[in-house]
Amino acid sequence: MSTLQQKTNALHAGHDTTLTEGTRAVPIYQTSSYVFNDTDHAANLFGLREFGYIYTRLNNPTNDILEKRLASVEGGVGAAVFASGTSAIATTLLTLLKAGDHIVSSSSLYGGTFNLLNTTLPRLGITTSLVAADDVSNFKNAIQENTRAIYIESLGNPKLDVLDIEAISKIAKANGIPLIVDNTVATPALLNPIKHGANIVIHSLTKYIGGQGSSLGGAVIDAGTFDWTNGNFPEFTEPSKGYHGLKYSEALGNIAFIVKLRIEGLRDYGASLSPYNAFQIIQGLETLEVRIQQHSRNALEIAQWLEAQDQVAWVNYPGLETSSYFELGQKYLPKGKSGIVTFGLKGGFDQAKKVTDATKIFSLLANIGDTKSLIIHPASTTHQQLTSEEQLSAGVSPDLIRLSIGLEDVQDLKDDLLQAIKS
Ligand SMILES: *Cc1c(COP(=O)(O)O)cnc(C)c1O
Repeated sequence: MSTLQQKTNALHAGHDTTLTEGTRAVPIYQTSSYVFNDTDHAANLFGLREFGYIYTRLNNPTNDILEKRLASVEGGVGAAVFASGTSAIATTLLTLLKAGDHIVSSSSLYGGTFNLLNTTLPRLGITTSLVAADDVSNFKNAIQENTRAIYIESLGNPKLDVLDIEAISKIAKANGIPLIVDNTVATPALLNPIKHGANIVIHSLTKYIGGQGSSLGGAVIDAGTFDWTNGNFPEFTEPSKGYHGLKYSEALGNIAFIVKLRIEGLRDYGASLSPYNAFQIIQGLETLEVRIQQHSRNALEIAQWLEAQDQVAWVNYPGLETSSYFELGQKYLPKGKSGIVTFGLKGGFDQAKKVTDATKIFSLLANIGDTKSLIIHPASTTHQQLTSEEQLSAGVSPDLIRLSIGLEDVQDLKDDLLQAIKS
């Protein structure tokens, strides 16, 4: 592990310029496959006796640099990148769990993850208890004899609840199961869940890390701290049928999970990241630190301004002293609370839709974390498939408007919101 600071690692980790013809920028290795020296070399690579590149679904030199950088900035022992945040989440859960297993999850989740846990995985025999995260004992009470993971978002999208990662990680540890944390909204520049006890960290790279709304991507970072030999995970201790008898934990120690995720998860489900997208995401990661600080400052200013507007019924931003997550925010996000703000208008659902239609600088679209400001009305869009009760448990009230505050001039953003509210 690097002894350098996170800001430095975000720019340099993983790239040995002597191996890339001296290129200062990380090159794009746009290739599907790699020439083997001879059949013995190929056999060694396939048999994991030697490290090297086989096929871009499994690994690629551009992706490899992005993986090393992400592992470094999150403080993990290894990482794997995926075609999207969603495929990173699905491949993680499908690698760890089997039919009959159970997950305890916070109900405050990204809409796609909510559907995966609530509908799609149960179809495969993996069930989920979605619990209100505000009371940490809910996680403990929902654990069953077949529970094999706790899943949370460090800063819920769109509820913006700050989760007490340390308290939840203690419950996971006491039950011999890993804590998986989606850290997309907080970003590694503001919060490192591994420092607070998370075992696996997931990102949608599509959001702040890529940062420009140009490329989809996802990542999984392994803290290397979970004991897979505790009896709950026979797939790590028994000879693997899927890899000619490999015993993952015995052979790979603290990188057992991240290697299994790659050699089984990417091999069998195939959601690999395009090296071109990896290149774009690397550009984003290099400036993440300065961007997320400014996103956070702009978001706080907009949140405070919204609170002072007559037509606004409520504002939610963990940096506001009126937020019920203010104290947890000060603990877990001391450097900034990221760029998402939600609010409701006195005119409820109908007025929320009208205001969302009337902004000119804020773009109406389903994304967050772009340099440009974005707006959406989740109840009629991203969370539309959920029942009203499910929407409320995910933190989506009918009147909620979600803003992703960009890097524009803040006065221009206030003017735009004001003209939309007035219209
Ligand atoms: C966007 C998002 C995802 C899904 O990522 P994609 O890259 O869109 O597949 C997962 N979790 C959170 C918190 C997100 O915001």
